[in-house]
Amino acid sequence: MLDLATALELDGDRPRLSNDFVLPDGLVYLDGNSLGAMPVQARERARRVVDEEWASGLIRSWNDADWVSLARRVGDRIGALVGAGPGTTIACDSTSINLYKAVSSAMSHADGPRVILTDSANFPSDLYVLGSLASAHGWELRTVDPARLTGALAEGVGVLAVTQVDYRSGRRHDMAAVTGRAAGLGVVSVWDLAHSAGAFDVQLEECGVDYAVGCGYKYLNGGPGAPAFIYVSSSRQAEMSNPITGWFGHEQPFDFDPSFRPAEGIDRMRVGTSHILSLSVLDAALDVFDTVDRFEVWRRGTELVSYLIEGFEALGLEVITPRLGADRGSQASFRHPQAYAIVQALIDRGVIGDFRAPDVARFGVAPLYLGHRDVAEALAALSDLLEDGDLERHGIKRGQVT
Ligand SMILES: *Cc1c(COP(=O)(O)O)cnc(C)c1O
Repeated sequence: MLDLATALELDGDRPRLSNDFVLPDGLVYLDGNSLGAMPVQARERARRVVDEEWASGLIRSWNDADWVSLARRVGDRIGALVGAGPGTTIACDSTSINLYKAVSSAMSHADGPRVILTDSANFPSDLYVLGSLASAHGWELRTVDPARLTGALAEGVGVLAVTQVDYRSGRRHDMAAVTGRAAGLGVVSVWDLAHSAGAFDVQLEECGVDYAVGCGYKYLNGGPGAPAFIYVSSSRQAEMSNPITGWFGHEQPFDFDPSFRPAEGIDRMRVGTSHILSLSVLDAALDVFDTVDRFEVWRRGTELVSYLIEGFEALGLEVITPRLGADRGSQASFRHPQAYAIVQALIDRGVIGDFRAPDVARFGVAPLYLGHRDVAEALAALSDLLEDGDLERHGIKRGQVT
């Protein structure tokens, strides 16, 4: 198991690959997959947007501070992190809403059977969204075991809608293989990158993905409730449609035309006014990715997760995360009947992970701001805890957000 001395040696003079994050002293933060840590640039930008652009600039800032194109600019920056060219990605709304828009559009031009295929490990919000779309349009939502996904594609499907990384186990679908097979069968693909964007290398265009959505506040560190993003491949843009026809998806919002004319390009997937405060903070948070070699960041992530998994195994825990880096996202999870109490007791000891019902303890590795030392300290705390037992008192009171 990774001990502190070895960890310090492995970190060398770079305990963190980026020093731009503000983290409380003495805390090991293994929850960047729920809410990324705060980059210093975010704080500075928040002050500027509030004090200068809003308080002083007022309505003029739409043009003077270029608020009007911010969603596009941030979208392009996120696109660059997920293998998507300029003009294919836009930052707006939440992941759930973008999923609704993406799948609705995919359904409108899918010419195969009226079936949406997903897997049973998908995130509940995604399953709810898919369920309501299917029932509203008289489609079937077919939910299969994740291991059966590729096989199930051949069984009469119009739209594939899956999340790349399983939020509980960390298991990652092979995007290239699954999308390639879908395309060969005429199935339109929609990928949710909530636990992928910023965490590891994603190549949307190379894989031939049609639509994708993802989250701004996890590995992109955009802050609580940061806008999400939506991607539409350039080959699907001519036929894409937005089920919510708001004024920002109009060809000329400021013509105030009483009839709707869809915008050309990715702007068509917009609905209403951008969330300028949170979008600005997300924009600033993305600066961090410009200061590092992202492939080095992702390599470190894979290495840290491997150490975590080895440590869990050495403690006799039931690891549910794939051992191979290419088969998982940037997290390590184990199953335990007292998972909730373990996570709470670790938080008391300064190690923040999270619990996912019914019995999973999950530890996210955001490699921009974590080092081997953090992993060694987390494992030491866990080892102590499992030895001295006293978990009962931690399992009693559960907060509303877990
Ligand atoms: C985090 C997450 C979401 C969050 O959706 P919001 O609408 O932003 O709250 C959606 N889907 C998946 C797979 C997620 O991991």
